[in-house]
Amino acid sequence: MTATHSTRMLILGSGPAGLSAAIYGARAGMAPIVVQGIQPGGQLTTTTDVENYPGFRDVIQGPWLMEEMQAQAEHVGAQMMYDTIVSVDLSQRPFRLIGDGGTIYVGDTLVIATGAQARWLGLESETRLRGQGVSACATCDGFFYRGKKVAVIGGGNTAVEEALYLTNHSHDVTLIHRRDGLRAEKILQERLFAHPNIKVLWNKAVDRFVGGEGNQGLIALDLKDTRSGELSRIDVDGGFVAIGHHPATELFHGHIALDEDGYIEVEPGTTRTSVEGVFACGDVTDKVYRQAITAAGTGCMAALDAERFLAEADFETVSQHNAQHAAAAA
Ligand code: NDP
Repeated sequence: MTATHSTRMLILGSGPAGLSAAIYGARAGMAPIVVQGIQPGGQLTTTTDVENYPGFRDVIQGPWLMEEMQAQAEHVGAQMMYDTIVSVDLSQRPFRLIGDGGTIYVGDTLVIATGAQARWLGLESETRLRGQGVSACATCDGFFYRGKKVAVIGGGNTAVEEALYLTNHSHDVTLIHRRDGLRAEKILQERLFAHPNIKVLWNKAVDRFVGGEGNQGLIALDLKDTRSGELSRIDVDGGFVAIGHHPATELFHGHIALDEDGYIEVEPGTTRTSVEGVFACGDVTDKVYRQAITAAGTGCMAALDAERFLAEADFETVSQHNAQHAAAAA
């Protein structure tokens, strides 16, 4: 028999956004159900050292932080389910989501916190050295490269912002781009070109991330000229891949308003989406900040928005009921 789970607040995704929504939702009495998906805990479970999440003076581990957040959510009454949602029906309330084994999840409100994934170049050496010099987040990991040589790969807003950010820690930043023009906004380009500690290598693609002896991690990048095919090498201690992100919104195409990059659109200053009763938070709505703390903050906002929405919806139902009752009695 097909199992059905119903809740006042259904949360999809279990990174900092989803779990913060769960903590606030549970404490507001909405008995949330969190459907965890294929990467329980989200992107932080694939990072190691976390030094910028407030509240911890010592370095903490990303997977540990997510275990603690989940334990806190469960402690206050949220229920965790492990499933992969394969279809959604947002055409009427309550909303219905179906898992790959046929389990049905029904929510009076839905909080989407499915996150985003960094895009990688797809090189074997990149995977091997991830966390040992190769990163996709300068704000998260730049601090570990104080006084060292770093490179950023990409030519969009993210790459340029990351290169500029890295100058806070490094006096030797190289931006590597596969073409001879950037797609980043002009103002960012001007700041980049004016910075004395950043140089740009045009028409270059990374051929290989080069690791040192033993546990030394990244020591250099082998580059290939995209026009001549000529090979060259630059010595670096850190390589930041900044070639875009994929928001996890495949399920919602055609069901909810997405922007041109596939991120869920929310009403500015809120987590309200184009569908009443559906809220979105975390990296699935955010291509600018992308931090655990900002995801957690918007997760809290989503729970508060959902709670207010339900209170208003309940009030309207009661008012309608009373009006019908009064009319029948007259
Ligand atoms: P973009 O898609 O804008 O840029 C990706 C860059 O990576 C491009 O320069 C692209 O090269 C390059 N690239 C893609 N694939 C490869 C590859 N396989 N090898 C080498 N290079 C590659 O991504 P962003 O993350 O920069 O930005 C995404 C969106 O978020 C944009 O709309 C951006 O404006 C927005 N954003 C806004 C910010 C802000 O407002 N402050 C901050 C960050 C992002 P090519 O140019 O040749 O295609």
